[in-house]
Amino acid sequence: MVLVGCSTTQQLVSQSESRSVAFKARSRLLQDGKDIVKSVDVKWQAEKTAVVICDMWSRHWCDSASRRCAEMAPRINAFVSALRARGVLIIHCPSSGVKYYNNTPMRLRAKLAPMVKTEIPLRDWCSLDKTREPALPIDDSDNGCDCQPRCPTDSERMNLRQIAAIQMTDEDAVTDSAEAYYLMKQRGITNVIILGVHTNMCAWSAFFNSSNGLSRPECCSCARLNRYDV
Ligand SMILES: [Zn+2]
Repeated sequence: MVLVGCSTTQQLVSQSESRSVAFKARSRLLQDGKDIVKSVDVKWQAEKTAVVICDMWSRHWCDSASRRCAEMAPRINAFVSALRARGVLIIHCPSSGVKYYNNTPMRLRAKLAPMVKTEIPLRDWCSLDKTREPALPIDDSDNGCDCQPRCPTDSERMNLRQIAAIQMTDEDAVTDSAEAYYLMKQRGITNVIILGVHTNMCAWSAFFNSSNGLSRPECCSCARLNRYDV
C-alpha cells in the first residue's frame, strides 16, 4: 500500500503498539459520477513501513515552492522523528542532491541495498499514461509555478541539499534512484508514506522508481488524489 501526503500519527499506548503506525486513512473515489470519501482505521507494522521524503530541497527555482517547503519542513520533521522512533525506515530523496551526502552512513546504506530485477523496467520519470489514466484537473505545463510574475526556471537558483529543518540521522537512508526500491525489497517493506512539497510533480511522476515495482494504479491514484490536498 502506498500513501501520499500523510501528516499525522496517533498516540500509542502499549509497548507492542510502539512498533506500529496507526492512523486514519482517507481515500476518495469517483463512483457513478459522485465523489465518495472513505475513511478507515489503519495499523501498520513499523518494520514494514518506510517514509520517502521527496524533493524537500533547501531552495527551489520557484519562490512559492521554496516558501511551502520551509513551512512544511518542521511538521515533516516532527512526523518522521516519531516514526523513526518506532522503527520506520526514513528515506531522504533530495533529487540530484545526494552528492552532498557522499560517504555518509545514510548514503552507504542505500548504495549497499542489493539490486532487484523487476518485471517492469524501473524508470526515472513516469509521465501520465493517457491510455489508462484520466487527464489532470489542472494544466501543469508551468511546472507548478503559480507566482506572478512567473519565476525563471533556472537551476542556478536551486539549492538541492535537503532543507536543514528536517533532521537526518545515521539510521536513515539517502538516495534519488531505484536504490529506494531495493532498500524496500531488502527489508520486506510493503507500506510506503510519501512526503514532499511537490506531490503534483515529483512524488507523482518520479517516486524514485519505486512505483514501478509496487502497485502502479494504486500509487498513481493515491498521488493524484493528493495533488491538491497537500
Ligand atoms: Zn514560482
